[in-house]
Amino acid sequence: MGVKVLVRIRTTNNFAPDMIECSLHDNTIKIHTRRDQHKEAVNNQHSDWMFKVDGILHDVPQEVVYAAVAKKAVASTINGFSSTIMCYGQTGAGKTHTMTGATEKYEYRGIIPRAIQQIFKEVEEQADLALTVYVSYLEIYNETLYDLLSTMSDSSAPDTQMIIVEDSHGVRIKGLSIHMVSTEEDALNYLFEGETNRIIASHTMNKNSSRSHCIFTIYVETRWRQTAEVKYLTSKLNLVDLAGSERLGKTGSEGQVMREAMYINKSLSFLEQTIIALGEAKRGHIPFRQSKLTHALKDSIGGTCNTILVANIYGEAAQIEETLSTLRFASRMKCVPAEPVANIYTDPVKLIHKLQNDIQVLQDELAMYNILGNRRQVSYETLTANQIRDIKAQICRYLEGTVDEINITNIRQLRETFAQFKIILLQQEQEIEATLRKKYILIDKVNRETSFIADVMGLLNSEESQVGELMGEGFGIGLAPTSAKAKKIKVKKSRDIAGSNKKERPSVSGKDTEMLQQPKDSAQDVSPKPVASRVITASAIDSVRSESIVKMEDTRPMTPPGKSEIFDMFKAEKGSEINRILIENKHILIEKRTNMKDLTDRINNVKEEIDITNRSLNIKKRERHLQGEYKNEHDEPVVDEDEFNLIIQLKDLKRQYRSDFNTLRDLRVEVQYCQKLVDQCRLRLLTEFEIWYNESFLTADDTQQVPQGDSIRRGLVPFSRMAALEEDDKEKFQRLQQEILMECPESVSFYRARMKLEERHNYTRAMNQPQPITIHKKPGMITPSIKNKPPSSLQCS
Ligand code: ADP
Ligand code: MG
Repeated sequence: MGVKVLVRIRTTNNFAPDMIECSLHDNTIKIHTRRDQHKEAVNNQHSDWMFKVDGILHDVPQEVVYAAVAKKAVASTINGFSSTIMCYGQTGAGKTHTMTGATEKYEYRGIIPRAIQQIFKEVEEQADLALTVYVSYLEIYNETLYDLLSTMSDSSAPDTQMIIVEDSHGVRIKGLSIHMVSTEEDALNYLFEGETNRIIASHTMNKNSSRSHCIFTIYVETRWRQTAEVKYLTSKLNLVDLAGSERLGKTGSEGQVMREAMYINKSLSFLEQTIIALGEAKRGHIPFRQSKLTHALKDSIGGTCNTILVANIYGEAAQIEETLSTLRFASRMKCVPAEPVANIYTDPVKLIHKLQNDIQVLQDELAMYNILGNRRQVSYETLTANQIRDIKAQICRYLEGTVDEINITNIRQLRETFAQFKIILLQQEQEIEATLRKKYILIDKVNRETSFIADVMGLLNSEESQVGELMGEGFGIGLAPTSAKAKKIKVKKSRDIAGSNKKERPSVSGKDTEMLQQPKDSAQDVSPKPVASRVITASAIDSVRSESIVKMEDTRPMTPPGKSEIFDMFKAEKGSEINRILIENKHILIEKRTNMKDLTDRINNVKEEIDITNRSLNIKKRERHLQGEYKNEHDEPVVDEDEFNLIIQLKDLKRQYRSDFNTLRDLRVEVQYCQKLVDQCRLRLLTEFEIWYNESFLTADDTQQVPQGDSIRRGLVPFSRMAALEEDDKEKFQRLQQEILMECPESVSFYRARMKLEERHNYTRAMNQPQPITIHKKPGMITPSIKNKPPSSLQCS
């Protein structure tokens, strides 16, 4: 469907039937021109044209014209369809006659008064519709817009500059007065007023009315009287009386007239271009804005607007060129596509009322359904804060596992349930993030623990003063992530440690309690199970915490207590036995080192004495040689008493030197052995502490594998051996040695050998001793054999 084109041939006595051949049955007009007469104006090549149109109105009364041209279009305006009816043709061809008609006789009235009449007839007939009608009358002259109804308006001055604007409702002319009309007469008054103004203006402003375009627009707004209908319709009926389409040369216009004609031609030329463009299917841009006319009619030519063109032709032979021109324009207009669409809008106020009514009806419906379904308690109102709290609590119970199902009662509750799940999920995400943050803090804690190891070692070393070197690498105190610990805490173990309820322990400081409860508070709504674990952890920690530990607690909650704090406590309680052994072994080691130092000093002294004695003996020898020697019967030189004593002294010293040297060598081995024992004890203490610590605060998975093979059994300390080598024993030995030396110096080697043997036996026995031996210093514990058998050979023969 395209633009509807009708040809109206003006009634005339000089109609040229030989030139204009109308075929009413197929709506074609054939134009025949005589070449010799019109060759300068008409294309020489053609003398015959045929135009196919939608209707030919030849010598027909206004009523028939209206019926053929406008009736249907006007009827559709109350249904929201906009229409444009345009009259195109040369001056005098009957455009104004067609559009407005003559006023002197009622039956000569044109399309506009008839359309007004029809619309108000509809207003009266459509009882269920509330139609509102407005009119405006625009004149475009020399590309200027004139409001022909400005005199009817109080507000707008006649010379108000009007501009064409476009909005969501289409094109409108800002500044053009639009008048609501409630009756046919009212509307006709505006029409006549506009016509009068047009004539007055043409005189006062020296305008040629045939050179202006006039657009009388009837606006119809259709609403339904019943409130349920929220839609409303709007439509525009543009009734356009175009300026004369005659070409300039025809009238021989000059000066102002020529300028007018140029404008007219120009705007009509733009109209034609626009129409050609609209007729081309693939044309993207339509030059509507080239002229005021096309711009003002932008949404009123083709497209969704029902468009009808009346081509007014004169019908006389003299006007055949203009007739041909008009028909050419008409045929182009026929190519413009038009697919009328109703302008339907929604009234927001009525829509709200309607929706409120709908809700009420549905609520009533639902209430009835609930009564029938015996579900009287169900509420469909917006949830209250308390109801939301209840829903949240129910979800918590569901997550805990105390309830298996969430009872769904209505859609609102279902939606809120999901919303609360989302909130909980977000909270848990935040919690996980917080945990991760704590984990990063724990990396610092690991460092702190590393320093703890150093602290412990320092502690041990300070206790043993100069004893031994630091523990080597390979003994690490591992830390599992807090998260792992928090999850894997052995409740039973903790409870064993805790023994009593946390609340019953007044020793916990306020700060402590706060720290321990903090995670509980933040998590109790969401995940009660982990919280429970944490609480037990807290109590477990609490139970093993001494005052000093409480004092040392840092600000980080939920983490196991610091190892250095716990280590003191471990040594005092669970690790007391091994710690005691360690300390005792360390004392023995210290003692042995002291002995070794003393012995070294003594050996050095003996060595010095040997040197002195040697020097004295040499002096004596030299004296003896100088003085002359005495020899006995065995040809041995006879020495004096001093020299003899020196010789004896030297022998004794050498003997003692050898003896002490051997003792020192053995003592060094013992010191090394004791050192090893101390190291093992220390390793054992730390290992046991670590195991205990991990068992108390971690699972076995988290603990490091402790090398069991390396550990020593408690009590496997050869104290007998150590005791045998205590200071008292040495004193005893030295005493014996001196006695022997006094009685029989030669027997020293023998007794020394015996003693060494005893020592070795004792040592071996101690090393093989499977059971712990309580440390008792046994003064003079030189094997019973020695004790019981006082060296008989001492009584040197
Ligand atoms: P236009 O507006 O195209 O310049 P008009 O409508 O003013 O032409 O017509 C010029 C004159 O011709 C008017 O006096 C008008 O009454 C008369 N006229 C035009 N068409 C007809 C017609 N179909 N029957 C009778 N008179 C007509
Ligand atoms: Mg006219």
